[in-house]
Amino acid sequence: MEARRGGRWEGDPLREAMERALRAEEDRMAGKAASPYHGATGEPFLPESLSVSELEDLATCPFRFYVRHLLRPRGDREAEDGGWADLGAFLHRVIARVFRAALAEDKRKGKEVSALALGEGGLLEKAFSEVEAEWGRRPDSPFFLRRPDWPHRRGRFFRLLARAFGDGKGFLKEDAEILDVEVEVGAGKVFKGLVRGYDGLKVQGAIDRLELRSGSRFYLDYKLGSAFPRVKDPRTGELSTDLQLPLYILLHGKGRGAGVYYSLTTGKTKSAKRDLSALWVVFKEVRRALKNGAFPPHPDRKGEACRGCSAALLCRYAGR
Ligand code: SF4
Repeated sequence: MEARRGGRWEGDPLREAMERALRAEEDRMAGKAASPYHGATGEPFLPESLSVSELEDLATCPFRFYVRHLLRPRGDREAEDGGWADLGAFLHRVIARVFRAALAEDKRKGKEVSALALGEGGLLEKAFSEVEAEWGRRPDSPFFLRRPDWPHRRGRFFRLLARAFGDGKGFLKEDAEILDVEVEVGAGKVFKGLVRGYDGLKVQGAIDRLELRSGSRFYLDYKLGSAFPRVKDPRTGELSTDLQLPLYILLHGKGRGAGVYYSLTTGKTKSAKRDLSALWVVFKEVRRALKNGAFPPHPDRKGEACRGCSAALLCRYAGR
């Protein structure tokens, strides 16, 4: 550091990288948008598949998609969200294990699953401890489990799940009939022929839970955070289009059924908003980004997507 301050760069192993970074920053400051540092790859990006959450990122802010799913900087998840995404996946796994165990005993009604989860057998406690031990043994065990405060935090997250299983309404209606959990959905050959020879993209996702309520199909999706997902509507620039559950309903239910998001943190629910014309416009934008391989920072009009964005360290968007 002292040598650098004195302008003595000879033999500095970081010299080349630093000079490159400096040039990139100068280009960005000068407004050269068509550079890879601004998400312009210069050629079509034609992946074999994208998940629904990747599509959500792409629709909300192309640069976020570029950073998170193309560049994938090392250490990004731990540095940015403290393992929040892994924690969400962990809680999803615990919930799915409880439902699977209940279905294996042919307990399909919400009331029965709730009794198994929280009653004498303590299925929820058992599933929580099992997944915790399994994930803890993994060579790449998640950061949140390695944090020294996990023994204190685990109680809080366990209580969130216990509240969900016991609420009898938002998360698990007593008379609901559980059909399946973690249902894979997908569509193939989307955007086929985007450029000559391209065979199309597979869109993949997983429905957290599928159930019948008064004879109608319900698609449920759990969120760890308090916000429910909305992507940018290109017509208004607002974060107002619901992509995830409407897409699942289209792909899995052929357009029939209703969807509900449940926040584990707040215990609140929100119904899915089906707006086919908005979905159509979103897909048109996605198509354009992939075809041009252009992923500039372009969040919603109010920059709400920038709050807590995990790509912020690499992003120089001036409007946040
Ligand atoms: S900080 Fe905002 S503009 Fe930058 S990548 Fe994230 S959402 Fe996009």
